[in-house]
Amino acid sequence: MTASPEPAASAGVYAGLIRPSVERMQPYSSARDEFEGMAPVMLDANENSLGSVGPDDFSRYPDPHQRAIKEELAQLKGVAPDNIFLGNGSDEAIDLLVRLTCTPGQDRIVVCPPTYGMYEVAANLNDVRVERLPLNANFQLPADAADQLARSTAKLVFLCSPNNPTGNLLAREAIESILRHFKGLVVVDEAYGDFAAAPSWTTRLAEFPRLVVLQTFSKAWGLAGLRLGVAYASATLIGYLNKIKPPYNISAATQQHALAALAAAPQLLEMQADLLRGRSYLVEQLPTLPIVEHVFPSDANFLLVRFNIDATAVYDQLRARGIVVRNRTSQPGCAGCLRLTVGTATENDTLLQALTEIGAGGLQVPAAAAIK
Ligand SMILES: *Cc1c(COP(=O)(O)O)cnc(C)c1O
Repeated sequence: MTASPEPAASAGVYAGLIRPSVERMQPYSSARDEFEGMAPVMLDANENSLGSVGPDDFSRYPDPHQRAIKEELAQLKGVAPDNIFLGNGSDEAIDLLVRLTCTPGQDRIVVCPPTYGMYEVAANLNDVRVERLPLNANFQLPADAADQLARSTAKLVFLCSPNNPTGNLLAREAIESILRHFKGLVVVDEAYGDFAAAPSWTTRLAEFPRLVVLQTFSKAWGLAGLRLGVAYASATLIGYLNKIKPPYNISAATQQHALAALAAAPQLLEMQADLLRGRSYLVEQLPTLPIVEHVFPSDANFLLVRFNIDATAVYDQLRARGIVVRNRTSQPGCAGCLRLTVGTATENDTLLQALTEIGAGGLQVPAAAAIK
């Protein structure tokens, strides 16, 4: 046996950032990599040429590079197709970014709590340590965030903007300063970007080669069940993600449906406007309830709300009325807080009515609506 050659591309802006084993490895070469397109007789991938069990034909492996979706998405977002990676939800992109940069048991990532829990789960799963750079009382990056990160040898920082569960955008200047001073990858998670009145960080990719932007079809597009997430980055970084992804990570069903959704993109704007109207309505109504202490400003499709009575009791009473929200009371800086997703106009009113009743001393729970 011969040893693998030394890591090759670890020079320049990505020096020391790509895990050496990833540099060395050969990616899987799928049948659909070696022969693209269709011939009259396709006997290369051990598929079932007779067809599929069930109503639809899914007998053929999907395009491992999802070219059709990337073409459409590139047009819509004003980036090049080779700046796009598609994942089985952005959760797959999060996991792959950790694995791309961090050697288990050795390397670290940075998260800024309170924030999305999957960053830490991905790190834990991969035996990667987590450094915490907590947001300040306004849920913004602390003034010395870039200085702290400049001293950190972590491989990657996750910045969620608009942030989950707080709802606010992180200040542009703070992110920019981190991009200039931190030597690792800067991952800006824009899962809720479609609800914010700020330009996407995808517009800055050419300026910052260590910037990765995450977006998803799960929120504004209303396609959480499809599992389709997007990472935008330099062609080099996207190349690495493609190297380590499972070859057929986006199913044929997902690819077909995503293309149909992209063709109907104007619908997105209508839904977006509707949800923003719902958010404004809740922002207006919630503070009029005596049990509501504070509604945090939101650039997302949810509101973080602080109660002046036991928030977990409010959570339980909502649940007993058939309304499930997210209890965030144990998150740093979120004591007394529930996270409420903006729903339909009817759901929003149902929620407000229930909160009114809970405030009035908790009426009898209607048995029919109770969740076991
Ligand atoms: C909902 C959410 C996602 C989306 O994850 P998917 O796997 O694409 O469904 C990503 N990041 C944040 C912060 C989220 O809240």
